[in-house]
Amino acid sequence: MTDSVAVDTKLLLKHLPAGVVVHALDTSIIYANSRALQLLRINWQQAIGKQAFDPHWYLMDDTGGRTLDVSEYPVSRVLASGHAIIEMVVGIRDFDDPTPTWVSVNAFLDSSQSPARVVVTFNEISHTHRLPFREIVDKAHDVVLVCEVSPLNMPNGPRIVYANQAFTDLTGYSMAEVLGKTPRILQGVGTDRESLDRIRAALTAQQPVRETVLNYTKQGDPYWLDLSIFPLHEGGHEVTHFVAIERDVTEAKLAELAYQDAAQHDPLTGLLNRRGFDALSAGVLQSLRAIRQGYAVIAVDLDYFKKVNDVFGHAVGDQVLCELAKLMQQVSRKDDLCARFGGEEFVLLLPGADNDEAYEVAERLRLKAAAVRVPVAGEYVSFTLSAGVAVDSRATQLSATLHTADQALYRAKSLGRNRVQ
Ligand code: GH3
Ligand code: MG
Ligand code: MG
Repeated sequence: MTDSVAVDTKLLLKHLPAGVVVHALDTSIIYANSRALQLLRINWQQAIGKQAFDPHWYLMDDTGGRTLDVSEYPVSRVLASGHAIIEMVVGIRDFDDPTPTWVSVNAFLDSSQSPARVVVTFNEISHTHRLPFREIVDKAHDVVLVCEVSPLNMPNGPRIVYANQAFTDLTGYSMAEVLGKTPRILQGVGTDRESLDRIRAALTAQQPVRETVLNYTKQGDPYWLDLSIFPLHEGGHEVTHFVAIERDVTEAKLAELAYQDAAQHDPLTGLLNRRGFDALSAGVLQSLRAIRQGYAVIAVDLDYFKKVNDVFGHAVGDQVLCELAKLMQQVSRKDDLCARFGGEEFVLLLPGADNDEAYEVAERLRLKAAAVRVPVAGEYVSFTLSAGVAVDSRATQLSATLHTADQALYRAKSLGRNRVQ
C-alpha cells in the first residue's frame, strides 16, 4: 500500500489548534507555532531564541494562587527528570493582563534529534478550568440554596439539593435536615402571597426573579430575605436547577417598616394619617373594583372643639382626640380604614358598605361620643361630633366621594351640629 496522505508538517503545525513550542536544551525556544504565540501572548521575534524564563510572561500554578519558579516550568522539569509531563495545568499571565489563560501542558524529551530537544504542547482549557467554586459557595456569607427544577409543585417540590453554611447559620436548619425538602418549610404567617406568586410565575417560566420575603428560622423567628433566584442551565442546555442567593435584610426591612409606619400614622391617635389613608385606600379600592363592590366614607368633625381647647387646655383637647380615635376603632370592622386627616377632622372608609350601613355606623359613633365623659381634675368634659356620609358604589371616585362627605358634614354643622347627614 502506498502512503496516500502526504502531510506538510509545517502547515499542519501552523494550523494546529494546540500550541507547540520546541526548546533547545538550554531552554531557548527554537520553534513556536502560531497558536503557541497567541497563548503566550508574544510575537515571533519575542519568542525565537528566548529562554523559558521570559520577562514578558510567566506561569501560575493550577489554583492561580502562586507564580511558578522557572525550575517548575514543564520544560525545566522534563530536562531535570528526563520524564514526560502529561496534562499539567498552568495559567499563563503577563504583566499587562492579570487574567490567566489556563492551559493543559504535555511535554517530552525528543532524543531522536541531535542535539535532543524538548517539545511542549498545550491546549487552552480556560472554559473548563474552574476556580474552587464549591469552596467559595460553601463559605460565602450570603445564603446559597439550590433546588431541582422539577417537581416544582406542592407538596414536595421544589426539592433542595444544596444549602451552604450561611443557610444553616441563618435558619438553624442543617443541610442534612433540608435536603429533599421544599423551601416552603421556611415560609409562614405574613409571608407575602403576592411575592410568592411572582416567584412561582418566574420559576414556571424559568426566568430569574428577585423579591424581598419574610421567612422563619427553625426556632420560629421571622427574618427578611433579599432573595435572588436564577435558573441553572447545566451544560448550556435545559434548566436543571434553580439557585437562590439570599441575604438577610431583616434590620433594613424593620427600619423601613418602622419608617413607613411613622410616615403613615398620626403619632397622637395612632390612626392612619392622610398619607397612610391615601396609600391604603388605593389598594382597597382596587380590590373592591375587582369584586364589583363599592364603599362608603364618613367624614367626622368635632363640634366646637376650639372651645374645649380654650376652656380646658390643649392637653385635654388631645385627650378628646384620642378618645374619639378609640370610638372610631370600636365602631369599625377589621377592613375599615380609620384616619385622622388633620386637626379634629377624621375619616372612616367602610369597604362594601352602602348608605344605610354607613349612616348606622356614623350614628353609633355619634351616640357613643356624646356619652363619653373625659375626667379632668374632678370635672368631666363631654363632646359631640358631626358627620357626613357619602357612598361610591363603583369604587372609582375617592376624592369626589370624600368631597361629598365633607359637604354633608358641613350641612350637619349648619343644621345645628351633633348629627349625621
Ligand atoms: P366646629 O364645630 O365648627 O367644627 O368648630 P370647631 O371649634 O371644632 O372648629 P375649628 O376648625 O374652628 O377649630 C378646630 C380646632 O381644633 C382649632 C384647634 O385649636 C384645634 N386643634 C387642631 N388640631 C389639634 C390638636 O392636635 N390638638 C388639640 N388639642 N387641638 C387641635
Ligand atoms: Mg370642629
Ligand atoms: Mg374642623
